Amino acid sequence: EEPLVTTSLTREDENEYSLRPKTLREYIGQEKAKGNLEVFIQAAKMRREPLDHVLLHGPPGLGKTTLSGIIANEMGVNVRVTSGPAIEKAGDLAALLTNLNENDILFVDEIHRLNRQVEEILYPAMEDYVIDIIIGKGPSANSVRLDLPKFTLIGATTRAGQLSAPLRDRFGVTLRLELYTPEELALIVKRSADILEVPIEDDGAMEIARRSRGTPRIANRMLRRVRDFAQVRAGGVITKKVADEALTALEIDYLGLDTIDHRMLRSIMENYRGGPVGLDTLAATINEEAVTLEDVYEPYLMQLGFLTRTPRGRCVTAKAYQHLGLPVPGVTAG
Ligand code: ADP
Repeated sequence: EEPLVTTSLTREDENEYSLRPKTLREYIGQEKAKGNLEVFIQAAKMRREPLDHVLLHGPPGLGKTTLSGIIANEMGVNVRVTSGPAIEKAGDLAALLTNLNENDILFVDEIHRLNRQVEEILYPAMEDYVIDIIIGKGPSANSVRLDLPKFTLIGATTRAGQLSAPLRDRFGVTLRLELYTPEELALIVKRSADILEVPIEDDGAMEIARRSRGTPRIANRMLRRVRDFAQVRAGGVITKKVADEALTALEIDYLGLDTIDHRMLRSIMENYRGGPVGLDTLAATINEEAVTLEDVYEPYLMQLGFLTRTPRGRCVTAKAYQHLGLPVPGVTAG
């Protein structure tokens, strides 16, 4: 069984494609980003120009890839999907760029992981739609400038802070995706259930929504697991009761925290007296990767108000002690 909370796509998510909304209207939530995009898309279409380069940032699973497909669809152009680590050499990027059609979109996931050499090819490509390629070697090497079709780069990153300043400055539009509210996630769950043809009750959808830590990808994963329980134990209908049973059996608590969240919070409380503790130290203590804790676990724990980041490290809050049913230090009972 694959974990519900991971950074990357799992085998199960491969059919995620069918659950992806295709238009801005179908894309639930993110009203601020959507409102801005609507204007930019319309303006670009009126001028018959490509959309300005767009940087999308926010935790994994919030809909960055989905949004790039929607932008392409709304603009009536094609999108090529790749990722920072997949583009190894300058030539790889040159091949991608020269194969685009006018106004097409190049989507680069994890754009903060582009290597330096590739990134430098990108600057003139983004700015002037040209690339400089070197032909030949040694003293007879020549730099040749090639014109590219006008295109839009959409970069996605979990960490805008890790982007180099020159790259960041070349994006005309920066949109931050936020964690979703339970109400928005309930709509997403109902929409997905509809596509998967699983009957679901409103409070069944809400139960999944409340426990999916603000993240549509996790909500859709939970929906599939709960569907199995519903089929075997509840005549196929997803009710609040069967959703609760399924998620409890999967060790997801009523706020959506899993065993790693619990270990993280407990470790800060028990080994570091509530903090502050540095991220790397904490990660080593509980034997998890620091990036995973930072990108996947912390955003939700901070949204819940269970964790704070200080210059000296991570701290847990009174609310976190209460959630785990532990006495809050320094507060006397009664
Ligand atoms: P990211 O690229 O940010 O990691 P994805 O775009 O792959 O996230 O989205 C993960 C899944 O969540 C997709 O299958 C999509 O169906 C669903 N999803 C994301 N955002 C929305 C949304 N706003 N409305 C409906 N479904 C969404």
